[in-house]
Amino acid sequence: MNAVNPASETDHKSGAPAPFDHDVIIVGAGPVGLALAGWLARRSATSSLSVALIDAREPEDSAGDPRAIAVSQGSRTLLQALAWPQDATSIERIHVSQRGHFGRTLIDRNDYDLPALGYVARYGAIVQSLAQAVRRTGVHWLHHTHAQEPVVEHDGVTLRIESAGVARTLRARILVNAEGGLYRVQAPSADTQQQEQNEAERGPAEAATQPAPAQKRTRDYGQTALVGVVSVSAPQAHVAWERFTDEGPIALLPMGGPRDADYALVWCSAPVEAARRAALSDADFLAELGAAFGARMGRFTQIQGRAAFPLGLNALDALVSGHGRIAAVGNAAQTLHPVAGQGLNLGLRDAHALADSLAQHGATPLALAEFAGRRAVDRGVTIGATDTLARLFTVDFPALATLRGLALTALEFVPPVKAALARQMMFGQRN
Ligand SMILES: Cc1cc2nc3c(=O)[nH]c(=O)nc-3n(C[C@H](O)[C@H](O)[C@H](O)COP(=O)(O)OP(=O)(O)OC[C@H]3O[C@@H](n4cnc5c(N)ncnc54)[C@H](O)[C@@H]3O)c2cc1C
Repeated sequence: MNAVNPASETDHKSGAPAPFDHDVIIVGAGPVGLALAGWLARRSATSSLSVALIDAREPEDSAGDPRAIAVSQGSRTLLQALAWPQDATSIERIHVSQRGHFGRTLIDRNDYDLPALGYVARYGAIVQSLAQAVRRTGVHWLHHTHAQEPVVEHDGVTLRIESAGVARTLRARILVNAEGGLYRVQAPSADTQQQEQNEAERGPAEAATQPAPAQKRTRDYGQTALVGVVSVSAPQAHVAWERFTDEGPIALLPMGGPRDADYALVWCSAPVEAARRAALSDADFLAELGAAFGARMGRFTQIQGRAAFPLGLNALDALVSGHGRIAAVGNAAQTLHPVAGQGLNLGLRDAHALADSLAQHGATPLALAEFAGRRAVDRGVTIGATDTLARLFTVDFPALATLRGLALTALEFVPPVKAALARQMMFGQRN
């Protein structure tokens, strides 16, 4: 790693162009920012890029995050040389069905000749395993440091940061926005449906004269995910369940535990229902869950750590901004509905491609342009597929239940389509 140069403000006073403190600054040490920092550091022998990583928190602060994440087999392949959480549980089979309607499909690792379809790990365990790997590198990591909006200049980016009440600026050739975040906590913008309606009302000619398209595509799914860890009386080891109900999908992801009886629950429903269930006694909650999910794994015997997440889509139109000097990755680029477990997996593919492009072309706008080009298809397909699934499987409309049933049944009878879908969910499109 190159030496850090803290002299940027002094040089501003002399009028000379300030030197760069780093080639690349990554804002956000969530799983995506950490993975990017780790991959860049591994390439530093050939690319000799100096990298700084900034986060308002410590990795240990993630220990209490209630999310369990399904990490795909493709992400495992990308991560395994860098870091891997010890206690990840493999998913060998996924059972997809609808409550009260026909249609069911099974996805089995043996059909794809894979050790597993994916793995379930806690968000905090993923962050901490990656943090350990990054600590062993020369990445300059600033903890408890809050980054403000960057200022773009012709040759780089200036970032004002603040730590323990002390503010200063850093300059870099390239800035990566890995600030992540959750739907609703991120900056809002007009709803896609509203945008589509406005354009339809204006007509194509008038729409073409409107200012540049909105920077973000957003959609409020009108749903909240209630998460927690449940135990069941008749577990099926390494089987994940996705069950669509009239209220929204219920996912149960295997988490091991005694007798393999622990499952991460993601129960999507209208916000008012989620709030009501969050306040129920454990016994009442488990009874309602049993009624909604059915008895495929016996009874639900325990629930721990209930927490709620509002669900929506936030997707930047462009991954690169600031005269080609700012790139967005992970949830900063797109926040998705968790229905197909794609958010982190897509973010890791963003980070891996960006590390590749920066290592190849250096900290230049050319690297970012190449990165944006490489990510276009995968982003488009994954965001589109997740948005379609979220809308198709979260709307309570009888005709849609029939359509969903037909889709699930068709998957069983057309193996190439099922295989293509499974491969997209596991590996995305990488180039
Ligand atoms: C209920 C639920 C279930 C999910 N399940 C899955 C799943 O099964 N599979 C899957 O792939 N994905 C899943 N996801 C999505 C996944 O959680 C996210 O895609 C992933 O966490 C994004 O990682 P990130 O590093 O981009 O952002 P984050 O995890 O949000 O991390 C961002 C980091 O940036 C820091 N930061 C932010 N702003 C600043 C600033 N100004 N200055 C300094 N630091 C800053 C924050 O402190 C944080 O550490 C799920 C999401 C939810 C809500």
